[in-house]
Amino acid sequence: MASKERVTVNFFVTPERYPWHGALWSVLARQFEQLPHALLLQGRPGLGKHDFAVQLAQALLCEQSQEGTACGKCHGCHLFNVGTHPDLSCVGLVEDARNITVDQIRALGDFLSLRPHTATRKVVIISPADAMNLNAANSLLKLLEEPPLGSMLLLATSHPARLPATIRSRCSRLLFRLPVPSVGQAWLQARPEIRDPALLLDLAGGAPLLAESLARSEFPSTRVKLLQDLASLAQGREHAVACAARWKSLGTEQALGWLHGFVSDLLKVCMGAPASSLLNPEAVTHGETIKNKYKINELYSFIDAILEKYRQLNSPLDELLMLEDILIRWVRLSRLQ
Ligand SMILES: [Zn+2]
Repeated sequence: MASKERVTVNFFVTPERYPWHGALWSVLARQFEQLPHALLLQGRPGLGKHDFAVQLAQALLCEQSQEGTACGKCHGCHLFNVGTHPDLSCVGLVEDARNITVDQIRALGDFLSLRPHTATRKVVIISPADAMNLNAANSLLKLLEEPPLGSMLLLATSHPARLPATIRSRCSRLLFRLPVPSVGQAWLQARPEIRDPALLLDLAGGAPLLAESLARSEFPSTRVKLLQDLASLAQGREHAVACAARWKSLGTEQALGWLHGFVSDLLKVCMGAPASSLLNPEAVTHGETIKNKYKINELYSFIDAILEKYRQLNSPLDELLMLEDILIRWVRLSRLQ
């Protein structure tokens, strides 16, 4: 449900090494001189795959890296940090483009066909790799099948299933897992501007960087308003039409995305999972236990309806009517149980 990630490399700030990457760095450090020519960095959004790729690229281009860590002082590191290293190419979404295009990948072929300028190899970062359109992916496949000597390709993606199987099978997979909650919370707690790290981490599904970006957005206060509206609707204190207008002003896509996550969590709890702090059960159920309040099949139908609305977002259909319809369904769902 998340919108497409748009990442850029800020060469002037070397990305932080995240504590939950420690095990992956250890694995890479042990085989740093014999790394495969293509790595697919995959895992959920908000785990720092792109930053990892940038750090790895710097280490690969560093003239005196040690155990997978760039020195930060050599000529290669200097060029890297000012964004002018001639042996690095980073491919991503350009401005408002929806895809990485075949021209961008063809340019990589030209880049890799030349000998390295100052380093011992050439490094390419493609992020988010799932944004490649079919022609771009086919063009990349040729590079992966016959990789130029000394080339190293780092592909980062939160949606590996969107990549052709032929691409995935030619890369070695580096799987990014969610950190244990205490690690994610400790990292968030070190940021004084972040309040309630436990809740944010829950809202982000355990991904610390996503939690950090949520904290910077208006989402925490928006979420409180959405929860209050659901409670008011369920208790008959509010009309769906009035709520729909508010939800539209908050952003239809965000509201539907949040509702999908909320109802999915409700469903999990009804199926026996422990209640999470996401649900704020007091707000929506008058203190009744969630498990007894909702029927599983009704929740499934509701989730289908939300997804249907989500799919219609870019159609000519009126967003206000869409939201009214979905909130009327919520009222029925809450009262008929
Ligand atoms: Zn260096």
